[in-house]
Amino acid sequence: MSEVMVSTEGLQKVYGSGNVRTHALRGVELSIRRGSFVAIVGPSGHGKSTLLNLIGGLDRPTGGKVYLDGVDLTQCHDKELARVRGNKVGFVFQFFNLLSSLTASENVEVAMMFARVKESIQKKRAEELLILLGLEEKIGAKPFELSGGQQQRVAIARALANDPELLLMDEPTGNLDSDSEEEVLGQVSRLHEGGKTVVIVTHNLRIADRAEKVFEIRDGKVMG
Ligand code: ADP
Repeated sequence: MSEVMVSTEGLQKVYGSGNVRTHALRGVELSIRRGSFVAIVGPSGHGKSTLLNLIGGLDRPTGGKVYLDGVDLTQCHDKELARVRGNKVGFVFQFFNLLSSLTASENVEVAMMFARVKESIQKKRAEELLILLGLEEKIGAKPFELSGGQQQRVAIARALANDPELLLMDEPTGNLDSDSEEEVLGQVSRLHEGGKTVVIVTHNLRIADRAEKVFEIRDGKVMG
């Protein structure tokens, strides 16, 4: 197994066309080691989320290459890309994106439906993940009954549903108070210690301090 989980070569992303083109990424070269904890920092609007989305195969570059666990994502057909993403990547976003009418457990189970996990296993696994994230008392709770930190921990459980090796997090504590932030960061550290590769886009220097490696993005390029 290669040491490298993610690498990019000359990665570019241009949004729009004609006079309304935005060069979000202008040739990003980076390499992320398997099992590492990486922060991507930089000013707003400089390409951090775009980079995260390309690494995770949520979007396609307009130039260059992205390799995820040795697979060249730019060569994948849509179906293949969805399969690689579903097997290898868990996403966590700033605004949790939980379905409000579903319980914590059901929110996690939904992620397994897409991966065609047997129904009998879905519920058990969802409960195990919620317990792992310290939410045993909230398994049947709806999002409105949970604090921000608890909702984000449900979102992390959902991201873990298909046991991905890579966790991609876009400002996961951006919408949390400091207690909830600590709660979520503690869980993220535990997952990293358990072997996950964690990549976090953040403005938060406390997160960047905990990371083993920090990439700073400015004007669509990695600095330094
Ligand atoms: P960051 O995460 O650092 O705030 P983004 O990657 O979100 O930066 O955005 C980089 C640039 O690309 C910004 O100028 C943003 O407005 C633009 N951008 C991001 N997504 C889109 C999109 N879907 N369509 C057009 N422009 C976009």
